[in-house]
Amino acid sequence: MEYYSSQISQLVEQLASLPGIGAKTAQRLAFHIIDMPEERVEKLADSIVKAKKTIRYCKECLTLTDKELCPICANPQRNHKVIMVVENPRDMSAYEKTGKYEGVYHVLHGAISPMLGIGPSDIRLKELMHRLEKDVDEVIIATNSSLEGETTAMYISKLVKPTGIKVSRIASGVPVGGDLEYIDEVTLLRALEGRVEL
Ligand SMILES: [Zn+2]
Repeated sequence: MEYYSSQISQLVEQLASLPGIGAKTAQRLAFHIIDMPEERVEKLADSIVKAKKTIRYCKECLTLTDKELCPICANPQRNHKVIMVVENPRDMSAYEKTGKYEGVYHVLHGAISPMLGIGPSDIRLKELMHRLEKDVDEVIIATNSSLEGETTAMYISKLVKPTGIKVSRIASGVPVGGDLEYIDEVTLLRALEGRVEL
């Protein structure tokens, strides 16, 4: 990449450092951005900065929001005694799209992965346990069916069981290794309805 000007190289490098963007895509994006009208580039940069400045974690469920409490946690119509534990905000929105889940969520922001050196203290488990000190009827574990997701589910069930709160795991209609966000709503609903108590 040395034949580019250093500005372009820098842009490519920065884009390539984002997750899911390989060197090739980074290069294509960089050239695309350079071809865009300056005004649009400014708008893009501006929305990135604004998002970064205003978006934060919901005080309750830790999803991304621009208020202290996300709309779900702030909604008194939701059942705050049922907490569905998901790995990330994308999984949460997948369940929200079904429109059938009435409880609230807890976003772990990851899953336990001994291989990647991600331990229980690297995800938001402490916050979950803290929430369970309140009046909670059920914890539904909806982590992915990957090895990491299953490891995390097992770990959580061991933590929650001694509290006497019901713990369940979504049914395994979800394909192994499948990311929740790519699974259609019918499958998600079936997984939720067919959940088994651990
Ligand atoms: Zn929330």
